[in-house]
Amino acid sequence: MNIIHGFEYTGLSVNFFLWGVLATVTHVVIGWFLVYTFTDYHPKWGAFGGLFPDFDVPFGFASGYWEWFPFVHRGFVHTPVFMVVCVIVLIGLGYKKKVWIPFSIGFFSHLVIDTFSHGGIMWFWPVNKTFYEFFPVAHDPEVEIIIFIFIILILILLPKRDYLNY
Ligand SMILES: [Zn+2]
Repeated sequence: MNIIHGFEYTGLSVNFFLWGVLATVTHVVIGWFLVYTFTDYHPKWGAFGGLFPDFDVPFGFASGYWEWFPFVHRGFVHTPVFMVVCVIVLIGLGYKKKVWIPFSIGFFSHLVIDTFSHGGIMWFWPVNKTFYEFFPVAHDPEVEIIIFIFIILILILLPKRDYLNY
């Protein structure tokens, strides 16, 4: 069985595509929302960090086709260790001051969301390769729609925020 982003993948289908789009939107929206609501950083960095771990999704397809392929979806890319590596790279690049902070908020939210979805992630990789999954409802479409409605309501109720322009 091949799990793509918590979805039991049995072949390409419209359902799988729509499900994947919704799951992706969830990560982007929540990363954006957290940074927008709780920091002064530009929320695009939260959206980017929220999306980033899923650049390994193609690994899931590849490992389904080629058994020798060493990387999988929700492998090391979906771990706190890899998040720290990304932060070090961002700081090393000297990239626009402290964008690693909103990036990490987005990235971390991705790890938490995936923990609350089928499959979970390896929180303690490489020490312990157990996948931790709790109460897996996060990528259920009904739950995602409720989250979107909740976020929209909060955005309507909150005063508009200013953020740093980078
Ligand atoms: Zn993910």
